[in-house]
Amino acid sequence: MKRFTHINATSAEHAVSCLQEYKDSSYVIAGGSDLLGCLKDNLWMQTPEAIVNLKTIEGLSYIKEEGSTLHIGALTTLTEVAESSIVKKLAPALAEAARRTASPLLRNMGTLGGNICQENRCWYYRYPSKLGGRIDCVRKGGTKCFAVIGEHRYHSIFGAVNKCIAVNPSDTAPALIALNATIKTTKRTIAIDEFFSAAHGAGSTILDRDEIVLEILVPVAAKSAVSAFKKIAFRKSIDFALVTCAIALEKDADKITAVRICLNGVYNNPMRSQEAEEFLLGKVLTEDIAKEAGEIALQNAKSLFQNIYKVQLAKTLVADTLLSL
Ligand SMILES: Cc1cc2nc3c(=O)[nH]c(=O)nc-3n(C[C@H](O)[C@H](O)[C@H](O)COP(=O)(O)OP(=O)(O)OC[C@H]3O[C@@H](n4cnc5c(N)ncnc54)[C@H](O)[C@@H]3O)c2cc1C
Ligand code: SF4
Repeated sequence: MKRFTHINATSAEHAVSCLQEYKDSSYVIAGGSDLLGCLKDNLWMQTPEAIVNLKTIEGLSYIKEEGSTLHIGALTTLTEVAESSIVKKLAPALAEAARRTASPLLRNMGTLGGNICQENRCWYYRYPSKLGGRIDCVRKGGTKCFAVIGEHRYHSIFGAVNKCIAVNPSDTAPALIALNATIKTTKRTIAIDEFFSAAHGAGSTILDRDEIVLEILVPVAAKSAVSAFKKIAFRKSIDFALVTCAIALEKDADKITAVRICLNGVYNNPMRSQEAEEFLLGKVLTEDIAKEAGEIALQNAKSLFQNIYKVQLAKTLVADTLLSL
């Protein structure tokens, strides 16, 4: 790993001023479970000169219910999110997504803010430069996507963004989208539907380089609301998802009155299935309706040679998640 300056930020303002001073040559670090891997493998064109530590900022780790909103500080660990009785009660999809992320040790280190800002896991992108040199694919400023012509069994089944077919790896992202969260940063408040973007340069969000996530806000839904998260991965103990699905819905006299469905692991950004949502409105949930919703959610899939299996996985996961509600 190349040498860099490590700065313990004393406040969010201090962290932002450090990012502005070092411009594109700096990153923030929270739990470090993603960022340190990126640094060790020399992922970025320019090795950062400075790493700004957010963990030394007080008051960014909390879970509290205020009025009709659940407030979660960006530095709250995934273990705290998964084990919180408030999150389990008010946002079960998020608690389950955090519980299914990585391993106990990584959940103790990894934060919710870091989880939604993590880099993609495409193996060409992540290829360690010390093993025979960098692989400069489109996403690293090159001209080719090596996954399209090479190994793409874990990649997008809904096409490419800027010729890149890497998927978003965050487990908590689809849960936050299903729950219609908002993200408060040092600059603005962003609706979760707008937050993720693989088209914005490095990273997986629309955040500017000098912008930090401070808080995740989840609306506390009506009493009739329920939510669930499911994940399929090769290994159950610790593994990135092949496909995840999160759904939040409300019912009135058994009929669905509101629903948000989000898949991840299927496209560059976590993907809402709005056509399936529209289909479900006003319906009573049965096994046939759940299966049809799964078919509709995947009707525009454009799988590649090696990842066609993910289409069936995702259809089944949508139906299973619905039926679990
Ligand atoms: C072996 C292994 C298995 C894993 N398995 C999973 C998995 O199953 N599911 C999953 O979702 N993830 C998984 N991860 C990825 C990662 O560990 C987690 O997503 C974790 O939550 C990242 O949080 P962190 O605090 O460690 O982030 P960091 O590594 O500190 O940061 C990650 C990125 O987010 C940025 N960042 C961090 N905090 C903020 C903030 N507040 N504002 C703006 N930017 C910020 C950093 O600059 C960096 O680019 C795995 C990682 C490893 C190493
Ligand atoms: S999928 Fe994206 S990150 Fe992976 S090789 Fe292609 S351009 Fe690079």
